Amino acid sequence: MSGGPSPERSRHTRAAAERAARWVRPEIRRLEPYHVADPAGMIKLDAMENPYGWPQSMRREWLDTLAGVDVNRYPDPGGEALKEELRTSMGVPEGMKIVLGNGSDELIQIIQLTVAGPGRVTLAPAPTFAMYEMTAAATGGAFESVPLDRSFRLDAASMRSAIERTQPACVFLAFPNNPTGNLFDTQAIEAVIEAADGLVVIDEAYHAFARESFLPRLTHFDNVVVMRTLSKIGLAGLRLGFLVGPEPWLSEIDKVRLPYNISVLTQVSVAFALRHLPVFEEQAAAITAERERVFAALSAMAGLEVFPSQTNFLLLRVIGRDADEVFRSLLAQGVLVRNFHRPGGALEGCLRVSIGAPAENTAFLQAMGAALEGAA
Ligand SMILES: *Cc1c(COP(=O)(O)O)cnc(C)c1O
Repeated sequence: MSGGPSPERSRHTRAAAERAARWVRPEIRRLEPYHVADPAGMIKLDAMENPYGWPQSMRREWLDTLAGVDVNRYPDPGGEALKEELRTSMGVPEGMKIVLGNGSDELIQIIQLTVAGPGRVTLAPAPTFAMYEMTAAATGGAFESVPLDRSFRLDAASMRSAIERTQPACVFLAFPNNPTGNLFDTQAIEAVIEAADGLVVIDEAYHAFARESFLPRLTHFDNVVVMRTLSKIGLAGLRLGFLVGPEPWLSEIDKVRLPYNISVLTQVSVAFALRHLPVFEEQAAAITAERERVFAALSAMAGLEVFPSQTNFLLLRVIGRDADEVFRSLLAQGVLVRNFHRPGGALEGCLRVSIGAPAENTAFLQAMGAALEGAA
């Protein structure tokens, strides 16, 4: 049947819209929904997923493990067994506490519910991961940002003066940064940590591809926590992030976390995956090698600037052509990347491409070559 909704349905929707407009908090109504493109039938290079599956034997062993799970029971509320697995496999320093999140996205929200919110400021450089600002708005707090320099480096002096001016309750630093792909200078980060009285969150979502970390140095600072996720190494569908830091901060943050936030299937599956960590580490190494191949190929194309990356994605800038057109041409050729172009913005002309399997990357490179010719 066509012809749109019935008159009753339309009246109902209009009435609900009027009432929602009266009651939904204004800061929520102002939010732009987090946009996720429809990937159906596309080579999906927009979300930093690991393109590789699991070996068949490992898959079977995993399914056997899941067969023994009692889904009629609530999961372990704190995920204690999983935390022990993480503690050993990730090298969590002695004495540091762990809190689990339903993805690190949830941890970003829990941290802000704990320390930010109304009357308080969250600070981050710009451009960076969009969720810090979205969550600040959703939790009723203010958000301030400090521009990175033209090479996307952290500007320690500007960060320091913004910290003095705004006295942020929390500062988010993605290390490496998304969507720029670079690691900030550790001395600049230390200057930020020193200047901040509030909590500094080092978001190490891309640690598997960067091999630099603040985790071993957590005990040197009393206002730093490190956040990690298993999404980018290959478990995006399971949703598990974890936060590591001093007990006085984490035990407060843990009060805000909803009980049972990590499903039993995730707890069991991630613990299983951690016992097969070398499989994922080999995949990460293959992705890193592919990143270097794609970087070299893109760098050789006229009309592109490619930024160095310590992650599983590359940020590139289209020069002398319309980036929207290049993006649409890639789409038309079946390749989905992420478009950050906004005229006059810090990411003007920029697209972000995740590193996929070798054949996907080759298809992307061909499509990019054709797009640049077509858009000339
Ligand atoms: C992808 C990403 C996250 C979110 O990870 P999830 O654990 O999947 O929620 C957090 N921070 C940064 C910088 C990211 O790029």
